[in-house]
This record gives sequence, C-alpha cells and structure tokens, in this order.
Amino acid sequence: MRNNSPFLKLTFEYLDIPDNMYQGSLTVEKRRDRKYQVEFRNVSFKYPGSDNWALRNVNIKFEIGKRLAVVGMNGSGKTTFIKLLCRLYDPTEGEILLNGIDIRKYNYREYMDIFSVVFQDFQLLSLKLGENVAGKIDYDKELVTECLEKAGFSARLAEMKNGTDTYLYKDYDTKDGVDVSGGEAQKIAMARALYKDAPFIILDEPTAALDPIAEAEIYGRFDEIAGDKTAIYISHRLSSCKFCDEIAVFHEGAVIQQGSHASLVADTNGKYYELWNAQAQYYTA
Ligand code: ADP
Repeated sequence: MRNNSPFLKLTFEYLDIPDNMYQGSLTVEKRRDRKYQVEFRNVSFKYPGSDNWALRNVNIKFEIGKRLAVVGMNGSGKTTFIKLLCRLYDPTEGEILLNGIDIRKYNYREYMDIFSVVFQDFQLLSLKLGENVAGKIDYDKELVTECLEKAGFSARLAEMKNGTDTYLYKDYDTKDGVDVSGGEAQKIAMARALYKDAPFIILDEPTAALDPIAEAEIYGRFDEIAGDKTAIYISHRLSSCKFCDEIAVFHEGAVIQQGSHASLVADTNGKYYELWNAQAQYYTA
C-alpha cells in the first residue's frame, strides 16, 4: 500500500480535475428524418494557452443529408473546426447552432450521440475485433460484420478463424491475437463509426494511413457507406473531395471559399484552384 500510493496519487489528482464544461439541459430532438441543421456563426477559437487564433470568424451553414468536404493545407484549422462541432472545446467567440439553438444548451451526452467521428488519432484496444467495433462487450455480431464489410474489411475478416471474436494484438491472446496494418486499423475505426449509426458521420483525413488503392476503394464507396447520413469529410487531398456536394476551403483559420467542385475550380484566382492544380500533377499522369 505504502509503495503504491504515490502512483495512485497521480490518478486521483487526475480524476479530481473539475469538469468546467457548461452542461445544458435541452434534449436533442430525435428526428427520424435526421433533419438537423448546423451553423457556425462568427466562430473564433484559440487553444487554451495559445495566443494564435486557430479559427477566425468562421461562418458556415450546412445542409443535412449532404456531403460536405473540408479542405485546406495542414494547419488551416480543419480538425479544430470538427473539434468545436463535437464540443471537445467551446468557441472562444461566436456560437455554433444546431437547429437554431446554441449547442451548449443541449445535454452534452445527447449531443454527442448525433456524431460518429473517426479522428486521425483514433485508438484500437487489445480486445476482440467485435468489441472494438461496437465499443462494448455485448455486441450484435451480424451488425458488426455488416459494418466491417461496408468499411472494406471483409476479406481480412474471412481470414480470421475466430471471426469477430478474434483478439486484436497479442496482449490478451498471445497465440491467436492478430496484428493489423495501419490501413486495416483505419477500416476497423470506420466500422466503429458506422456501428454507432449516428446521423452525422465525420471522417478526419481517413486515408492518411491508406495506400492509393485502398484510398480509391474507400472514396469510391464513401457515398454508399454514408447512406442517408450527413457526412463531413476532411482532407488535404482534393481529389478525394470532388464527389462531395459542397466543399469548404479553409485557409489560416478562415473559410475562404465554399461551393461545388465545378464552381470552385472555375474560379482561377481562388485558393481551391491553386491547390487543385498543385495536386493535379500527381493524378493526371
Ligand atoms: P488542420 O486540421 O487543417 O491541419 P488544425 O485544426 O489541426 O489544422 O490546426 C489549426 C491551428 O491550430 C494550427 O495553427 C495548429 O498549430 C493549432 N493547433 C492545433 N491543435 C492545437 C493544440 N492542441 N494546441 C495549440 N494549438 C493547436
């Protein structure tokens, strides 16, 4: 007890950090038609302890059921935009509205329920594949399998003799536990987002760890994967965003252009045109 208590102290200090997040009480309307509308109204944000604006005066509204692509160079604020949307942080200035109401007024847990996000730094655990997809011990095997198939994992799944009960990694099953590649891990993370079946699905640079073939496979199927959900797709590769209904171009923390691929690429003075041409050389050949 004596020897171990110094280590426990750190844990307890961590658990004692007060939760200062403002907790609203409004319930999020569970809409069958999934008609949710989101608006950023003059949103600016600085990370705690930082003097720089990560986002500055962002105004954007998006239509539900559509595919929104968020593009821009590294550091332009794309991930921050998603973190604010998911309430990992609250805006420093301005407000984010869901169906016309400031998101801080909603019950936090209920608000989280409408988003499925695959962040770049997602984690898989050394547990069963099915548990990783469902995020719980009791999971619906059929649904897990279906989600893995949609995410393009079926061939790999077929090779696993214990199916969805296969342990990931060797920590708890040194004999039959499997190691997965970066691309496979990303597919499992996507299956996890699908299993949650939330009205919004957000993929943050989902293909960062995928090879070009796996990437093309996921882009090609993304529309089908997203189904009737509102999908937000973040990427610095513009070729992956062409199929989206609406594209928002971020630059130095601001949304500088918004529109369809055709309209953006037609504006030869715009940032999109510049980025598109800079990247096109890699694809046309
Ligand atoms: P993107 O997703 O477009 O690459 P980010 O949203 O990650 O861009 O970053 C936007 C800006 O915020 C960058 O200048 C980045 O350095 C800064 N930033 C990101 N995360 C943090 C953090 N945790 N603390 C401080 N600054 C951050």
